[in-house]
Amino acid sequence: MPAQLLDGKAVASEIRADLTDRIKAVRKRLGRPPGLTIVLVGGDPASEVYVRNKLKTAEESGMSVSLTRLGSDTSVTTLLETVEALNNNADVDGILVQSPLPEGLGDDAEQQVFDAISPAKDVDGFSPISAGYLAQNRAGFVPCTPAGVIEMLDRCDIPVEGKRAVVIGRSEIVGKPMALLLLKKNATVTICHSRTKDLPSVCREADILVAAIGRAGFVTPDFIKPGAVVIDVGINRVTDSKQAKQLLASQPKRLSVFEKNGSILIGDVHPEVVATAGQLTPVPGGVGPLTIAMLMANTVRAAELATDTKS
Ligand code: NAD
Repeated sequence: MPAQLLDGKAVASEIRADLTDRIKAVRKRLGRPPGLTIVLVGGDPASEVYVRNKLKTAEESGMSVSLTRLGSDTSVTTLLETVEALNNNADVDGILVQSPLPEGLGDDAEQQVFDAISPAKDVDGFSPISAGYLAQNRAGFVPCTPAGVIEMLDRCDIPVEGKRAVVIGRSEIVGKPMALLLLKKNATVTICHSRTKDLPSVCREADILVAAIGRAGFVTPDFIKPGAVVIDVGINRVTDSKQAKQLLASQPKRLSVFEKNGSILIGDVHPEVVATAGQLTPVPGGVGPLTIAMLMANTVRAAELATDTKS
């Protein structure tokens, strides 16, 4: 029997619906809706799409959202000054600086920005303070993608306690916080990465397998314990026709979409895993919508914790 597909869009709408009353309460208390500002540096096409989706969702959710655009030749100093001004703006509850930043800003620009965002407004959860709170199991902002995965597991009644969980990927924004959140829910957690030996056999121990690697179709059926829950975080745009044919050999409908558009989004999990997994998040429509829903949830929470400067 093919895996049950976990519908991220449906779970994301539930999360957003649950925010409605909280947004109303913020409006009542602060005299304004929760406020999110997104800073976009340069014009990376993928970032433009992500930012547009975030702006649209925030508007539809009844929040106040604004976009600050900076040119790709912006200096780190200007960017940090922009962040500082937002830190001091009482109408802004959440600040998100879209990554990746242009390469010209240097290797440590992103870290400098994450260090500069006020922990009270760190709705992406990337600041060292937020990361520390998460590591110590204390309340703080949790990165949106792994937080969304936990919401999905909870809302789909997938038990985590006592399960063997394997996370492939150890990035600061997905893999590491994902492992900590699964640990918090009492799973027995293994983190795998590019130097892990015999990756498929480690993954085959997983009742819950999370793939956050950034390589299309990397997790093949031989990685999967039959019936496992497989969470595919990867979003990879495949444009190579030979690769698309290999990955989509068993999915002619999606292959025809590729042939029509010249590209297709494929997760880190091979499409054929659907025959082995018990439950699986599709790409697109799985983890992606949850990331944006959790950004909204984090912004509402930031607004709930904000001091009312007008009273
Ligand atoms: P990253 O490049 O920062 O990290 C990738 C991780 O994969 C690294 O820790 C690395 O050790 C591991 N890795 C690389 N090659 C490997 C190999 N051969 N074997 C085992 N491990 C290997 O990427 P990231 O930011 O964590 O993102 C991962 C994926 O998730 C990407 O496809 C990204 O687009 C996607 N993503 C999706 C969302 C979403 O909303 N769904 C959000 C963030 C990231």
